[in-house]
Amino acid sequence: VVDAAYARRWLALATAAVEREADRLTELDSAIGDADHGTNLRRGFTAASAAVEKDPPGTPGGVLALVGRQLIGSVGGASGPLYGTLLRGAGKHLGDAETASPEELCGALRAGLEGVARLGGAAAGDKTMLDALFPAVDAMAFSLDSGAGLVAALGAARIAADEGAAATVPMLARKGRASYLGERSVGHQDPGATSSALLVTALAEAAE
Ligand code: ADP
Ligand code: MG
Ligand code: MG
Repeated sequence: VVDAAYARRWLALATAAVEREADRLTELDSAIGDADHGTNLRRGFTAASAAVEKDPPGTPGGVLALVGRQLIGSVGGASGPLYGTLLRGAGKHLGDAETASPEELCGALRAGLEGVARLGGAAAGDKTMLDALFPAVDAMAFSLDSGAGLVAALGAARIAADEGAAATVPMLARKGRASYLGERSVGHQDPGATSSALLVTALAEAAE
């Protein structure tokens, strides 16, 4: 069930994953960016975890919105406002309900994602976080439509996010710092798509 406890389990797993993979994310960003993606997310998720611990919201929407606001406030890089918009948008979409259905969670993630696309102006195939997140939400929606429950739908989302992140390797970057490299951005996995896959994995693990 999607409730505040689920959202907090997600946050704990996401924060641990970011902590564990920070060096790899920064390494990926050193190839096609400015070598700070892991550091940025570690700072953001540490701040978000502290804020949620200090004053825990009682609803899943409240937790996601608070995490989003903390990411916007604490991360200097592009990923802070983008992930912040995703989570704040998803949280607002859930409103103040104490629980949400799997379909409502999926719709909230879709709404947050549309905010990211609006803010960043990127489309699928531009070699950004969207290339992991769009397939993840599409897979979740398809899976729910086919009658799957939350755990199976998030399992499908996780696989799609991993595949989406891997699929950014041959892409030419058209948004963000990596786009400054032009053809030289080809052949490297996008850092933001990689961290997106970690966040979706945490969503799936929190449901298990
Ligand atoms: P910065 O590039 O400011 O140092 P980060 O390194 O934390 O920020 O994040 C870089 C990631 O942000 C990229 O790998 C990409 O996935 C994502 N990103 C950058 N610009 C955009 C955009 N316009 N739309 C969507 N995602 C973007
Ligand atoms: Mg960077
Ligand atoms: Mg930076």
